[in-house]
Amino acid sequence: MQDYANFIGGNWVPAASGATFTTTNPADTRETVARYPLSDAPEFAAAAAAAQKAFPAWAALTPVARGRFLSKASQILEARKADLALLLVREEGKTLTEATGEVQRAADIFRFFGGLSYTVGGQTIPHDLPGNLLFTRREPLGVVSLITPWNFPIAIPAWKLVPALLCGNTVVLKPASQAPAMALELAKVLAEAGLPAGVLNVVTGSGRAFGAEIASNPAIQALSFTGSHGVGTGLYQTLAPRRIRVQLEMGSKNPTIVLADADLDLAARLVAIAGFGLTGQACTATSRVIVERSVLEAFTEKLVALAKTWKVGPGAQPGVQMGPAVNADEFEGNFAAIQQAIGEGAELVWGGARLTEGDLAHGYFMQPAILGKVTPSMQIAQEEVFGPVVVILAVDSFDEAIAVANGVKYGLSASLVTRDFKKAMQYAERIECGVVKVNQISTGLALQAPFGGVKDSSTDSYREQGTAALDFYSRTKTVYFDYSA
Ligand code: NAP
Repeated sequence: MQDYANFIGGNWVPAASGATFTTTNPADTRETVARYPLSDAPEFAAAAAAAQKAFPAWAALTPVARGRFLSKASQILEARKADLALLLVREEGKTLTEATGEVQRAADIFRFFGGLSYTVGGQTIPHDLPGNLLFTRREPLGVVSLITPWNFPIAIPAWKLVPALLCGNTVVLKPASQAPAMALELAKVLAEAGLPAGVLNVVTGSGRAFGAEIASNPAIQALSFTGSHGVGTGLYQTLAPRRIRVQLEMGSKNPTIVLADADLDLAARLVAIAGFGLTGQACTATSRVIVERSVLEAFTEKLVALAKTWKVGPGAQPGVQMGPAVNADEFEGNFAAIQQAIGEGAELVWGGARLTEGDLAHGYFMQPAILGKVTPSMQIAQEEVFGPVVVILAVDSFDEAIAVANGVKYGLSASLVTRDFKKAMQYAERIECGVVKVNQISTGLALQAPFGGVKDSSTDSYREQGTAALDFYSRTKTVYFDYSA
């Protein structure tokens, strides 16, 4: 078992109370993975104070100078990829291939923003009068708080942290209690890359203890949160009186639409990867498949055939395509959602059973589940399940497919499988989502492109990732300079 401490002001420190909590391996709950400080509001306040102290010197550096730390960190991360991926598998449960890809993604994010540092600046705008210079400056906000979920425990902290640092902010990062190791490993990497003390601070502990502290701590100038809709909305309401900048990316109910002209083998493959991959625990996972009735049977047969071959097991085992649910709550929540749907009239087409053979009995393993005869008003067609549970809704036309896809409160990612370019473009225009895919999985993002949701999936104010990320973490100052006299 590994022992971690908080990272505050460049020092590794326990919680003042000495209290700790541990994480367990979701593939084998007999294994304790690591122990962490169970911090409370005072530790968060100490981290905010350390970040505030470090801010002036960090903000005074040029973006290029800040970018050097990021590029160096990228190299260290690459060198540690294999070890970090294994630790990620043990703590969160995803497959080694998925975890290796995620650590690589984090390294690439550091590399991308390290390079981008040469371009971070303002804009020169032609003035109406001669002898006048009109330009903007991009300035940091101050101390930024980041709260992250467990499902991408290194990629999400990285995609928030790196642009925040590049813009000249200092950071207090609070990772999810389910899987905090990666955030602390990022702190180690950045410390080795020479990041000055206090620029990044990482505090572990129950999120509930920190929410009020963020709201009342005057050092915190912005919050970027990724997690559930309930927690995000609560934080938004708590922070509203302070009018600090808040970015929330939250839950979803992502559709993949399969039109009658689609390549059905491709459609089944895309749904299986996006629905069962990452154990369905991705914010962009396909959870609804909206299928034109004329191909409903043929598509369902192909998806079931694939699901039957899907190899479930401990993520570190070669050939495994789907790891366990992350914890008992998520695991039981998946079965409860299936039962609720059946109670409302849905039919379990395939899967959804607990897997208890041999060592699997010690983990949160289940077959992927496919539900048919689902109608748009059922709870399972409206609410996020966050597990490998895919529901199929039949529709009679393209227009109905769009209406059903849009008929939920969320709007994060969507996919369409078709050979009809005209319908594909109409879908791209009409779908209410922040990420729109055609003939691709609903999961998977390009780190250089903007990412975020609409409707209840997001505050829909600023986008994450790509160059768009810089807008949240900086403010624009407009400078009017008359040199004509
Ligand atoms: P969660 O329960 O909302 O937790 C997210 C983070 O918030 C954790 O660090 C948690 O800490 C913290 N937290 C909990 N209560 C808090 C409070 N009152 N004040 C401040 N912080 C608090 O979500 P999760 O279960 O970790 O993640 C799954 C959810 O994230 C799903 O809904 C998924 O769709 C969403 N997600 C969205 C995106 C996206 O980009 N849209 C990406 C990934 C995941 P503790 O762990 O200590 O409770």
